[in-house]
Amino acid sequence: MQISIWEKESFYAPKDVIIVGSGLVGLWCAWHLKRKHPKCKVAIVDRGIIPTGASTRNAGFACFGSVTELMADSKKMGSDKMLELVEMRFEGLQRIRKVFGEKHVDFEWCGGYELITQQNDPGKEKLEQEIDSLNRQLKAIVKEAHTFKLADKKIASFGFGNTAHLIENKMEGALHSGKLCQALLQSVQAQGVTVLNAVEIAGFEKIGDQVALYTNQHIHLTTKKLLICTNAFAAQLLPGLDIVPARGQVLVTSPIPKLAIRGTFHYDEGFYYFRNLGDRILLGGARNKAIEAETTTEMNITDTIQHELEHFLSTYLLPGHTYQITDRWSGIMGMGGEKMPIVKEVSPDVFCAVRMSGMGVALAAVVGEKVAKMLQ
Ligand SMILES: Cc1cc2nc3c(=O)[nH]c(=O)nc-3n(C[C@H](O)[C@H](O)[C@H](O)COP(=O)(O)OP(=O)(O)OC[C@H]3O[C@@H](n4cnc5c(N)ncnc54)[C@H](O)[C@@H]3O)c2cc1C
Repeated sequence: MQISIWEKESFYAPKDVIIVGSGLVGLWCAWHLKRKHPKCKVAIVDRGIIPTGASTRNAGFACFGSVTELMADSKKMGSDKMLELVEMRFEGLQRIRKVFGEKHVDFEWCGGYELITQQNDPGKEKLEQEIDSLNRQLKAIVKEAHTFKLADKKIASFGFGNTAHLIENKMEGALHSGKLCQALLQSVQAQGVTVLNAVEIAGFEKIGDQVALYTNQHIHLTTKKLLICTNAFAAQLLPGLDIVPARGQVLVTSPIPKLAIRGTFHYDEGFYYFRNLGDRILLGGARNKAIEAETTTEMNITDTIQHELEHFLSTYLLPGHTYQITDRWSGIMGMGGEKMPIVKEVSPDVFCAVRMSGMGVALAAVVGEKVAKMLQ
């Protein structure tokens, strides 16, 4: 098929910036770029018919980290970096609410909880010390003295088994990931961004002052600057970056009459996560039960993980209830040795914003702003 002159001069016309990947990071980058430089010609290219990585396939937690996770991060990365990351996520959540409004993306300040199992219980005193220490450090960021607090009294009302303690985070919420991606797409298109779907970028090459993009179609694209936002799939175009794919599997139940579970919940150091979707339960995780098999970019589900999730559901969350599993899916996260995202110029005029470490819903809004500054 040949390309018409109309196509050549519109959809496929040379751009100032081409973004590969229309997940939350690519979309927020385009959003900030157009805000900062309205005349900049921007295109987003994605190989999926819709964004097809993690952004529309996640759990929709509007979160910035649980107590055990932040304590572990602090040990591993140092408290300054841990706080830097929390601040980025927290700012990202405010940005989403400010730009789109809570109603539009079903943003709900439902409160988040972390379950401490009897096996992992460090003791109430130690937990209280950790909560105090984190609350003191977070105060400057969230402008709130008691972000986290022990909420053991709620264990019985939620009906959880095998739970020694419950930590509440009143600054955590939930949103609708599909509606957020759609709202962002509509917003960037309204600002003049060209969105090309079902086009896979197979490679790129710097030729003179342009970057040429090679695709799986009969089209070549050119741009002054290339921005790669392919997260878990980054190795295809940028081998050598410290990014490992990590599949996350999810299931959703049919409506549960009188469901007591309300909010977002983290369990077993975040390896399990669940929330209510109205009166249904969305449950995901259990990746630690088959870590090698789940280190993959294959977007399918497996019996091992799905059975484990079902077992967890019937044993700890919904003992005695009758329900069906109505939906199952997976998405792919981008992990690495470090939790900080990789946002940098990898070679002249080629940039990347990748590795959201499984918590990019909030991060993406702030990463996008960083990128827009870097590309000016
Ligand atoms: C099951 C699951 C649950 C999660 N739950 C949460 C949560 O509750 N809260 C939270 O904050 N985070 C969560 N995350 C993580 C969060 O969804 C991600 O961090 C975030 O969506 C990453 O966005 P992204 O734009 O970087 O990547 P992606 O959304 O993966 O987007 C990358 C895009 O690049 C495209 N692409 C890849 N290669 C090419 C190519 N060669 N050419 C063209 N296009 C290409 C893909 O099609 C894809 O659309 C979860 C992730 C998963 C998988």
